[in-house]
Amino acid sequence: MLGPQIGVPVTPAASVRIPPESGELRYQRCGACDTANFAPTEMCRGCSSRALQWATSAGRGSVYSWTVVRRPQARPFGGAHAVAIVDLDEGYRMLTNLVEVEPAEIHSGMRVRVDLRPTGEERVLPFFTPDRG
Ligand SMILES: [Zn+2]
Repeated sequence: MLGPQIGVPVTPAASVRIPPESGELRYQRCGACDTANFAPTEMCRGCSSRALQWATSAGRGSVYSWTVVRRPQARPFGGAHAVAIVDLDEGYRMLTNLVEVEPAEIHSGMRVRVDLRPTGEERVLPFFTPDRG
C-alpha cells in the first residue's frame, strides 16, 4: 500500500495570499472568463484578469497520469510512493501523491478523492485516494 511522499519542502507561493487553512481544498475561479486557476496566481492563466476569487473544490477527480517511485532519490523522501497528475472535476489539474492504493490498482481515469493530511508543520497537504463510492 502506497503512502505519501515525505520530506518534500513546501514553499508557499510568494506572491499570492492563500486563505487560512480550513480543511478544504481550494482553487481560484476567474470572474472574467470562468477559468479554474490552479496553482494559485495573481492573474488568470486564461485571460490575464486579476478578478480571481477563491472557490472550494469537492476534491473529486480522475487520474490523468502517474508514476510509482520505488527508489526515492534520498532517504528523506521516504519509501515507494505514487506521484500523479489529477484532473479535478472543477476543471483544474494538480500534481499530487496517490495514497492508500496498491500500485497495480492505479490506472488512467481512476476516480479519486482528496485526502487532506497534516504534515506536522502547521500545513495540510492534499493527497488523493481511490474514490470507492
Ligand atoms: Zn480569466
